[in-house]
Amino acid sequence: MLSNFKVILVETSHPGNIGAVARAMKNMGMDQLRLVNPKFFPHADATARASGADNLLKNAIVYQSLPDALADCQIILGASARDRTISWPSLTARECAEKWLAADYADTNIALVFGRENSGLKNHELDLCHFLLRIPCNQEYSSLNLAAAVQVVCYELFVASNQPQPVSVGDLGTEPLANSEQMESFYQHLLETMADIGFLHPERSKSIMRRLRRVFNRAQLDTKELDILRGIFRFAQNHNQ
Ligand code: SAH
Repeated sequence: MLSNFKVILVETSHPGNIGAVARAMKNMGMDQLRLVNPKFFPHADATARASGADNLLKNAIVYQSLPDALADCQIILGASARDRTISWPSLTARECAEKWLAADYADTNIALVFGRENSGLKNHELDLCHFLLRIPCNQEYSSLNLAAAVQVVCYELFVASNQPQPVSVGDLGTEPLANSEQMESFYQHLLETMADIGFLHPERSKSIMRRLRRVFNRAQLDTKELDILRGIFRFAQNHNQ
C-alpha cells in the first residue's frame, strides 16, 4: 500500500539512526529506504538498532547524490525543522498524508527526504522539493531526532492509509507526472533558453530560478505538458540565432 513512498536519508552520520529509521518504517508498514552518501553503512550499529527490520537495510539503495536518489520520483517532500528565509510551500506531516494517499497517486513515486543530524537539508537540496514537510512541535525546540521524525511521518501515513480513501476525483490527466530527472533537465533547458534569448545571465540566475521552480512545482507538470514547454523553448532558441 505504501510502497510508492520512498524514505530518503541524506548524509546520515550515525549508523544507529539508519537502523532506527528502518525499524520505524517497518512498524508502519513501509519498506522503501534510500540512503544518500551515508557516513558509515553497512554498520553493526545500524543492524543492532534495526532490530527485526534488518531486511530494510539489506534492501536499502545507496546513492551518490540526492538528484540520483530522486530521479524516478514525481512528488518530493523535504522534511525540515527550521523556518527558512526563503519560503517554500509547506505541509504538516498529517496534511501530507491526507493529500498524497488519494487513490490517484497510487502509481506516483513520492519521496520523503530527511536531512543530516547536525545541519538538516541545504537550500539547494530543498530546491529539488515540491513542499517542505513540517512536524508541528515546540517552536522553541523543534528539531526531532532523525528516526523520531521519520517515525512521526510514517505514523501519519499509516493512520491515513487505514482511513477510507475519498473516491478518485480524476484531477490528474492520463499522462504520468514528470519525474525529478525530467524536471531537472527541464530547468536546465529553461535556464539555457533564458540565457540564449538574453533574458538573464546564467550566473545571476539563482534567485529567479528558485522562484521559477516554485511556479512549476505548483503546477505539477505531466510529461506531455513538459514536452510542449520544451518545444516552445526550442522554438525560441532557434529563432534567436
Ligand atoms: N539540526 C538540524 C536538524 C536535524 S534533525 C537542522 O538544523 O536542520 C534531522 C532531520 O530530521 C531534519 O533534517 C529533518 O529532515 C527531520 N526533522 C527533525 N525535526 C523535524 C520537524 N520538526 N519537522 C520536520 N522534519 C524534522
